[in-house]
Amino acid sequence: MGVAFPVAIPGIYDYSIPEELSDRISYGTPVLVEVRRKRTWGVAVQLREKSHYPNLKPVLEIKSGRWTDSNQSLLKLYQWMASYYQCDVGRVFRPFLSKSIMKTREKTLNVYSVTQKAEDDLKERHREILQRMRQSKQPLTVKEITQLTGASYSVVKTLQNKGYLKQELASVLRHADELSMETSSEQIQLTAEQQAAVEQIGATLKNPGKPFLLYGITGSGKTHVYTELTKSALSMGKGVIILVPEISLTPQTIQRFRSAIGEAITVIHSHMSDGERRDSLQEVISGRKRVLLGVRSAILAPVDNVGLIIVDEEHDGSYKQSDMEPRYNARDVAVMRGHIQKCVVVLGSATPSTESFHNAGNGKYNLIRLSSRFGASRLPKVEIIDMGEEHKANNWTPFSRHLLEQVQTTISKGYQTILLLNRRGFSAVLMCKQCSYTYSCPNCSVNLRYHRAETAIKCHLCGYYAGAPDTCPKCGGENMKYKGTGIQKAEEALKEKFPEARIIRMDQDTTRKKGAHISILETFAKGEADILLGTQMVAKGLNFPNVTLVGVLQADTGLHFPDFRASERTFQLLTQVAGRAGRSETPGEVVIQTYFPDETAVKTARTHDYQTFFEGEIETRRTLLYPPFGKLARVVMEGKCEKNVIDCITTAADTLQRAEIPEVLLLGPSPAVLSKIDTIFRYSLLLKSSSVAKLSSALNLIRENQKTISGSTRCIIDVDPVNML
Ligand code: ADP
Ligand code: ZN
Repeated sequence: MGVAFPVAIPGIYDYSIPEELSDRISYGTPVLVEVRRKRTWGVAVQLREKSHYPNLKPVLEIKSGRWTDSNQSLLKLYQWMASYYQCDVGRVFRPFLSKSIMKTREKTLNVYSVTQKAEDDLKERHREILQRMRQSKQPLTVKEITQLTGASYSVVKTLQNKGYLKQELASVLRHADELSMETSSEQIQLTAEQQAAVEQIGATLKNPGKPFLLYGITGSGKTHVYTELTKSALSMGKGVIILVPEISLTPQTIQRFRSAIGEAITVIHSHMSDGERRDSLQEVISGRKRVLLGVRSAILAPVDNVGLIIVDEEHDGSYKQSDMEPRYNARDVAVMRGHIQKCVVVLGSATPSTESFHNAGNGKYNLIRLSSRFGASRLPKVEIIDMGEEHKANNWTPFSRHLLEQVQTTISKGYQTILLLNRRGFSAVLMCKQCSYTYSCPNCSVNLRYHRAETAIKCHLCGYYAGAPDTCPKCGGENMKYKGTGIQKAEEALKEKFPEARIIRMDQDTTRKKGAHISILETFAKGEADILLGTQMVAKGLNFPNVTLVGVLQADTGLHFPDFRASERTFQLLTQVAGRAGRSETPGEVVIQTYFPDETAVKTARTHDYQTFFEGEIETRRTLLYPPFGKLARVVMEGKCEKNVIDCITTAADTLQRAEIPEVLLLGPSPAVLSKIDTIFRYSLLLKSSSVAKLSSALNLIRENQKTISGSTRCIIDVDPVNML
């Protein structure tokens, strides 16, 4: 039998199946085997009678249960992923076979139940305890017995010793904290538009066809459409997978789904412990939970008989796994899973990706629109402030005069404000006024950022950390200045302007601790803060009815990134954050500050004009053969020895050139935008093609070629890349 591994062991290894396990192993069964002298969990991917190798080691242990669906179609999906995303098939199993998950065991507790023994000689008090326990109809822990009857541990032990109580081991489920919170049971009445969407999509549950793109403006009630559809799928006995970007999988979101769907739902997100994740998965595998709400890896979960897959905020970049294999996009895998397993796929967004909207235009997807906000709530009025004009008027603070006025008004009316500044730290860079020396990271090709709270300079890539110097190391000048505005500096300026206001900051630095992210949002939701100042974390999915003002301090922070999606991302971010304002009857106001008021992304965000943005964007993509017109693959070579890295990537490029694969365009090789991270040199090649098959053969060639090159250089292949740095 061939076994593949989720960890960095390339290829497939043969093992023998012991007699007693022979009828319990099938394709996709997790198996424990010894590899390189270590016990490692792998997965059975080839079952055959004979092997070419003698003296095979045996399989030691297996996990049984429905790891894969009965007709094995999930494995087809895994295989497609391995070939499309250019990795070993074992890697695709990683989220469910990771060492940490396989290592965690079932959690068990001692529970007690009442025996049949006659109670004639018992004290009245003890008889009462047994009576109460019988009424609860299930075995109880000591803690539960105490709560129910007041009996102490020693009483329980006495009753056990006398034979009135029987002790057993019971397994308990660990689950995410959010699953034990109260739910509300509000009844909702769908709007006509929502109802129509539910009916149109719901009608296909029996006989799924093309995927749906649900293009619904912010606040149009997409969540209600999702929950209604989920209920329909459940009532037909089908399983459901709902994907949400990591950042918007807040307790608030989970509560909304639980309130509507009830106990059939379980969750998977990255703030859960291994034990919680293992149990959640076990619930799905056993079929006890039919709805899985989770982040990107949930699309790979062995939910049985899936009838519906929902991808909320389908445009979100976090669906792409960029940092490790498989480098998949969960949105695209969802569409593929829908195709293979014949289920309904709904991609939802207020700002669909250019690729998906194009697919809706050319008939690959069905387009459904929700074009109005729920109830009396309207899209907010958006104002653009040219910061160049502010400077002319001698205002050098991070806040325009108009924004300050609006914040003041909002506070005095008792409403709340969200301010977005997509830049961590105190300021962009620390610079010598005399000789213009800037501090750059010794390990990376970026500038260090000043962090006021710790008077330190930090690298946001590798974490390099040093005390902030008073003098310039180059010229000795004593005049160091801070260039640009980071979020910490903005916070300070804000406190100065509004000393009375309660301000909370949300960025990577304030949310490092487990649960911090949640408690900040709770504080804000309870109205215990007037202003929430944050990085893009505050832009998505939040639903605070009391927020009437949203300010964007620098709309252009991402606009001039060397990435073909920079403009699209800016438009999405501005539209999403603007969508946080005025989500109840009180109208909302949005103020966008920028140095580039004439950029299309900024102008169209002002009028909430997705269509115009899309039309401009799709033309650019067509001209430059970017997705959806051309497929992209990025090849990055990295290593400590720069010369070796250059050799490898040049060889790869030469090989491709010599092979003359038609319709494959080669750009580079060149140093990556981040040409050095944590002492590792990085070079990249970009492949463009209108043919998936041709692109694949080019990449196969690179992989083959790489095997023959020795040295410490690592080759990373990223198909449909999202991260271009
Ligand atoms: P979206 O995800 O499309 O931005 P939401 O699903 O968050 O929108 O809905 C926005 C707000 O409007 C939420 O507070 C939601 O409860 C409310 N809402 C939407 N549709 C309805 C409805 N049919 N009945 C009651 N409340 C609704
Ligand atoms: Zn660094």
